[in-house]
Amino acid sequence: MGERIIGSYYTGVPGRTFLGVGGLHGNEPAGGLALGRVLDTLREQSIPVHGRIVALSGHLEAQARNVRFIDEDLNRLWTPERVARIVAGEIHTTEEREARELLAAFENVFDEAEDEVIFMDLHTTSADGEPFTFVGDTLRNRELARDFPVPVIFGLEEQLDGGLTEYLGNRGCRTIGFEGGQHDDPDAVEYNEAAIWIVLTSAGIVPRNRVPRYRELVKKLRGATAGKPPVLEVRYRYPIGVREQFEMLPGFRNFQRVKRDQLLARDHGAEVRAEETGRILLPLYQALGTDGFFISRPFNAFWLSVSAMLRKLHLDRWIVRFPGVGPEPDANYVRVDPSVARWYVIEIFHLLGFRKHRPRDGILILSRRKYDLKAPSRVEPLTGEIH
Ligand SMILES: [Zn+2]
Repeated sequence: MGERIIGSYYTGVPGRTFLGVGGLHGNEPAGGLALGRVLDTLREQSIPVHGRIVALSGHLEAQARNVRFIDEDLNRLWTPERVARIVAGEIHTTEEREARELLAAFENVFDEAEDEVIFMDLHTTSADGEPFTFVGDTLRNRELARDFPVPVIFGLEEQLDGGLTEYLGNRGCRTIGFEGGQHDDPDAVEYNEAAIWIVLTSAGIVPRNRVPRYRELVKKLRGATAGKPPVLEVRYRYPIGVREQFEMLPGFRNFQRVKRDQLLARDHGAEVRAEETGRILLPLYQALGTDGFFISRPFNAFWLSVSAMLRKLHLDRWIVRFPGVGPEPDANYVRVDPSVARWYVIEIFHLLGFRKHRPRDGILILSRRKYDLKAPSRVEPLTGEIH
């Protein structure tokens, strides 16, 4: 089996830490290969950096078998409750064992970090389509995505529970995810490599003028996504129960337009039609997976600046007084009674970063990422020693 640590690089100058993970899904080798190439280039060129670069390999056992996962999805188990159980030594699945090893590796990185930690999660997709980034909607994460010449997706992570970027974001890392095209696309490694250089340079860790192929790689990435909307938000996820019962209609690509009521898939023999008009993302064309597809729609850059302004003005502190809205003990959560609150209240909460919806006793609990505007002085510590 492969090694957990792909490599690290430090030239003695303090600064931010870049933590990259490739291959969290075992059938997606491009991210890990790209991390290796970046480290090779840094060493060959003796590039001086501000801060530290650490590259880890995600799911070692699934990589050895070239499958997405063994028992369960390693990118869906990072809820605080499960992490606490894994830390306490309750290990039942292959993925819990991998997660425990990753947690131990993360702790070493966080212990050595002198400044903010930037976490990057590298993936590829089963469907054909253009590369894109996805970020949990904090202003700090948005800043990281700003220099990307590919579409930025908001609200994807918030449709899911237990994603690694969400978990590390809520511990205080700045986070960004990248999908570098189809798993077997020969260009996927270069797309991932370009994405890593973009994050390293825009975070001020690596000087852009020292990266030998920077312009060439970024141009290639830009060329791959020409004509796609720069920002989209995910509106809908189709969750699947039994993988064998779900069949996506053939031929859908990431970003393909779909119309409301268009037939997209079959599940347990029944038709699955689009809930709304938009662009399809991550249609499932592989043996393993828990999400059938997502539907997104373009998000106007104007609203991005409006939302940044509203957050800086702390609009969230008084919108909880709207009818049908109430505060929760944690300021990153609010409750909304959909039978009382006006329809636009939810849209305003989206602008404020409250993108995660979970039902509770007939009302909706909305939540946002922690550390929207400001990084904590250190990454939050794990509770307990890893057993
Ligand atoms: Zn993946």
